[in-house]
Amino acid sequence: MSIAVAIDGPAGAGKSTIARAAAKELGFIYVDTGALYRSIGLNAIRKGVDLTDAKAIEASLAGLKVELSFDAQGAQIVLLNDEDVSSFIRTPEVSMSASKVSAVPAVRAFLLDLQRNMAKTQSVIMDGRDIGTVVLPNAEVKIFLTASPEIRAKRRFDELIEKGEDVKYEDVLADVIQRDYNDSHREIAPLKPAEDSKLADTSGLTLEESIQLIINIIKENTK
Ligand code: C5P
Repeated sequence: MSIAVAIDGPAGAGKSTIARAAAKELGFIYVDTGALYRSIGLNAIRKGVDLTDAKAIEASLAGLKVELSFDAQGAQIVLLNDEDVSSFIRTPEVSMSASKVSAVPAVRAFLLDLQRNMAKTQSVIMDGRDIGTVVLPNAEVKIFLTASPEIRAKRRFDELIEKGEDVKYEDVLADVIQRDYNDSHREIAPLKPAEDSKLADTSGLTLEESIQLIINIIKENTK
């Protein structure tokens, strides 16, 4: 039987790094659903879509194909109309666009089956905002992973600097706060803990400790 683990939480809580490491340790597939919203955000930018216009965002989905694949190391690859866009979707501009397009119901509906199908035949750790509440409401384990906005911004800032992006900490913090607001105040699938989720706050924890915490929660709840 396959097992589904849903990990939700705000931007920069370390979800993807922690979920990826936990999946590797437990032999599960790791699915980063934010990458799907990012690919649609990238497509909207490329097509010059007005990101305040929900109808225009919906129209940008016509004929669009989004797929997930995995490379030999098990790393996730996002395909937008057969193009591997994985390396174009991590910029602050795409982050903000993803946050905007993700508030459009048609975008969420467009990605729903793709996400659910991933969990049908294999054990997954899926991370996002609404995995435990909407995508996989019957997941065996639900975790709400969070940390303070300042700590999340610092982590994101360090990541971007390491990638050679020219960013300021204040701007990253403002982005984190703005995206938290967008994600938790939208009408559809707002970011909130599922009632039956376990809360994991990684503010005072190292990465290693956070990974261990998540692995322990998963093991305890799948015995
Ligand atoms: O997790 P990540 O920061 O890559 O997600 C990018 C954006 O996609 C988020 O700000 C959020 O608006 C959106 N998202 C979502 N639901 C998910 C995953 C991501 O709305 N399950």
